[in-house]
Formats: sequence, structure tokens, C-alpha cells
Amino acid sequence: MNIEPIIKDFKKYNQSPQDEEMIRKAFQFAKISHQGQKRYSDEDYIGHPLAAAKILTRLKLDGATIAASLLHDTLEDDAAHPMDQEEIERHFGKDIVFLVNGVTKLGKIKYHGVAREAENLRKMILAMAQDIRVILIKLADRLHNMETLHYVPERKRRRIAQETIEIYAPLAHRLGIGEIKGKLEDLAFGYLWPEEYSWIMANVGNRYEEREKYLEKVTPIILAELKKENITPLRFDYRAKHYFSLWQKLLKHEMNLDLMHDLVAVRLILPDLASCYGALGAIHKIWKPLPGRIKDYIALPKPNGYRSLHTTVFCQDEKIVEFQIRTQEMHAEAEYGIVAHWLYSESGKTGKKIETDEQNLAWVKQLSEWQKEFSKPEEFLERLKIDFFQDRIFVLTPKGQIIDLPEGSTPVDFAYQIHTEIGDACAGAKINNRIAPLNTKLKNGDVVEIVIQKNKKPSPDWFEFVQTSFAKNRIRKIIKQSKFSGLSQWEAEKIPRAELRIVFERDRIGLIKEVSSVVSASKINIENIFNESKEKGSPLCLTLRLREKSQLPPLVTKIKGIKGVAEISHKLIVKT
Ligand code: MN
Repeated sequence: MNIEPIIKDFKKYNQSPQDEEMIRKAFQFAKISHQGQKRYSDEDYIGHPLAAAKILTRLKLDGATIAASLLHDTLEDDAAHPMDQEEIERHFGKDIVFLVNGVTKLGKIKYHGVAREAENLRKMILAMAQDIRVILIKLADRLHNMETLHYVPERKRRRIAQETIEIYAPLAHRLGIGEIKGKLEDLAFGYLWPEEYSWIMANVGNRYEEREKYLEKVTPIILAELKKENITPLRFDYRAKHYFSLWQKLLKHEMNLDLMHDLVAVRLILPDLASCYGALGAIHKIWKPLPGRIKDYIALPKPNGYRSLHTTVFCQDEKIVEFQIRTQEMHAEAEYGIVAHWLYSESGKTGKKIETDEQNLAWVKQLSEWQKEFSKPEEFLERLKIDFFQDRIFVLTPKGQIIDLPEGSTPVDFAYQIHTEIGDACAGAKINNRIAPLNTKLKNGDVVEIVIQKNKKPSPDWFEFVQTSFAKNRIRKIIKQSKFSGLSQWEAEKIPRAELRIVFERDRIGLIKEVSSVVSASKINIENIFNESKEKGSPLCLTLRLREKSQLPPLVTKIKGIKGVAEISHKLIVKT
């Protein structure tokens, strides 16, 4: 196992000696890191990063991505000789350590196999990765793992296949990388639906052959017709439909294979846009199209950016054949998605019209817009940073449910996102198991737990920091209904507040809950709970909203009586 085949592939599209040197060095490091380590297949582990790098050179990715793919498992604890981040940074620089680290972190996201969470998980992966190259490496990693899944112990196979079909294949689809998407799905298919898979294999195999023989016969007729119109295709081939997508389609058509007109489709790659439409006309001149089956995805691309002309015609001997007609650039986009722009950035000025309907996520729209913008590979690399995700964050409930929030959101926004009542009753929050102020800005991947006080009302000063309009509206509404009604937010501010600082003899489970229920029993609203410092056992601080100052002394006495409370100090704040 050596690096030469990859260097050879890489040099076909990138001749930088520095990049070559970096890839060779990454290979040496990976070899050391995985020395003596085996895959389930009993193959030397280094074969896996090499396979990932191979997939990525086929996508013609930059040197940093190739080097990072070779290093992608070296930070893992179960590497034979795990590297550390500093080491990689010292030898390979910030860019590569970022990519390697990103791939390692993605591997740690837990997948619970709940389909309804899949969409959020996909979004979270994208947001956490920040750089699409991280995802491309992850996809290459996953593709090779799927190719070798039969070596993995049986009990693990299903989960990995499920994760592939729910998360990684749709991610590849979103990025427009049809080639990887189709392969991932077909590989997972057999593990998830073995019977259906065998049925497809048994029934489709000879049909594919039959179709190909037939199309061989038809080819000269098509080429002759195109020649009459002065159209010379750059490429002409047939493409067999991927098994999984065929099965999906069959499910909608009572498993009737005779209705599958695109089992094998003819693909015409043409030099320019005009000849695409020219070829469509030429084909329709000799064979009648099936009504409603002409699709112009050039004028109206699919949400993931796919562009092509499709038509289904009654071909020779009245057999039904699907044609896909597109330019080289569109073809590369369909197979390699956004990666394709590396190859075709110079010809990327065809003035393509991208329209997406409203159901599509905003980022798909932005992605399409953004695809049009750059003109140089370096610029593209820069733009690969997924800046359009920077305005969303994804945080988790203690049970692992993912909550999608705007950037700058706080635990209060989080609480309202879960349930209105939880928002209203929100008294404090734990972020990653530490008590934190309610105005803390949440970060991607934070685990947030809300401390609830029964019958609590939202606090007017939450307005200052909440981000979601849902939380804002709710707080406004409740305050209006409450006894502060008629008072403006600022007038409400004049109501006395108190701050408590409680020192514990020792921390124990349930202590915070006990304190907050004593406060509730006194009919006082908690505005905020937080620890004074990050140190373990640091004093607990509470901000309270009183109805009158006289409520405070009896409350202090009651809290003093709680077991484990060593001392309590308090102060009144009255804004004027
Ligand atoms: Mn790996």
C-alpha cells in the first residue's frame, strides 16, 4: 500500500510541488499513526485513509483536503498511535488540523436512529462542520466504510447502514454529489431491506442487459439524426438507474418494472446550451415524446442545483426510452455537485437561472446563488466555508433532541422552543451540566437543561436578550395579562428585585430544586439562577422579582432552614 497512485491522480489536476510534498508527508504520518493497526477485513488500517483519499482525488479536491483525508483517523483514541492536534498543526498548519479535527468531531455526534431527527441532524452536521471540505472527507470515509461493511460484525451493520441512508446519502444529495449519493444508497440498501434487494437484483439484472443491447442498436440512428442538425455530442452513454432509487420508484408503481422507462437512460453530453435544445428537437423529430414527460431542469433547476433536459420518447419498435441532455458543466455538477466548480470555474458564466420554490431551505437558495459568484479556484476555496450556516445554531436537550435556533439565542429562547409553558416557567439553566445565567449565548452542540419554577411568569428583562420572535411575543403577551398590566416594560422595571447569594456546606442533588420551590411557595418569581464562578461548589446566586420588599426577610429565613445551606446574604435593588 503506497501513496503513488494517489499522487498520480492528484498531479493530473494539480501540479504544485508543495501540495505533493504535503500529501506525501501526511501519508508518512498516517502510516506511523496506524502502524500495526488492522481493519475488520484484516487489511492494514492505512488502506482505509488511502481509499478515502482516492475517492477525493476523483472529485479533484485540493491538496489540504487530500492530506487531511489521509490523516482523518489519526486523532482517534483507537488509532494505534494517536496523534495530538498540536502535532498535526505544527507539521501541517491550521487549515489541515481544522479539517482533521472537524472530521473527528463529526464522528462523535450520536445518532439515535430516529427518522424525524434526521433532518435536524443533517443541518447540525453542516453547521458544525463550517467548511464543506470536512463533509466531503466524511462522505469519502463513509463510502469506504460502506464498501467494506460486510467485514464488520453483523450487529453493527444495520445501524451503520441506517445512518448512511438517513444522514449521509441525503447530505451528499443536498450538496449535489449524485455519484456518492447513489453509491451510498445502493450499498446501504442490501443491509436494510435484504429481501427487496434480492428481488431487484434477480429481476433487474437481465433487463439492464437487454436494455443496453437495444440502446446499442439505437445509437447510430440518434447520432445520424444529430449530425443532420450539425450537433456533435462530446459524450454519449447509457446510465443504469441506481438500485435504491429504482426501488423507491417501484414502490410508487406497484412494483411494475414495465413502467420503469428510465431503467437505463441515454445520456447526451453536448458542448453548449443551444445544442442541448437542438438535440431535444432532433430527438422529438424522429420519435414522439410521451406527454408530460419533457422536463426542462435547465430553465427550472432542481432545488439541489441539478440541471438537465429530460424527455421520454417512443423509440425504435415503440419501446420507451428516457433521454438526459446536458452540457459538460451541468453533467459534472450533477455528479460532483458544488465540487464541480473547481473544474469548470472558467466556463461558469452561462448565465444560469436558478429558481427555488419556497419550501426549500433558505440555504439551498443561497448555495445556488453562491455557486454563480466565484470565478477562481482560490476564491472558491475561500467561499467553501459555509458562511450561510453561521446564523443558525443547533443545541441539544439532555435526551439528545436537537433544537434549531438563531445565533445569539439564550436558554430562554431554547425553553420557549421546547414548549411555551417551559419558557414561561423557566427560572434557570444548565449548559453542559453547569448552571449558567439565562442570558448566556448558546453555542453549537451545547446541551441545555432548563430549571423550572412552577407558576412562574416571564420576566420583562428577558426582552433584552431573547432572539426568537416567538419568545418575544409570548413574554410581551404574558406581561400584558399579568398584574403589571397597564404598566410599560420600563415601569415594570421599577418593581423591587432582590439578589440572594447562598453558600452551601456541601453540594447535593436536589438542592437547587429545593431552594426554588421554597421561593415559589412564597409566591416570588425567580428571574435568574447562576453560580458565582465556574469553580465546583461556588455560591448560588438568585435574582428575584418581589411584589413588595417585605417579602424578602421571611424568605431568607426559610432558605436558611434548608439542609446544607451554610450562609445566605441578600440585597434589594430598586430601580428608579
Ligand atoms: Mn475513517
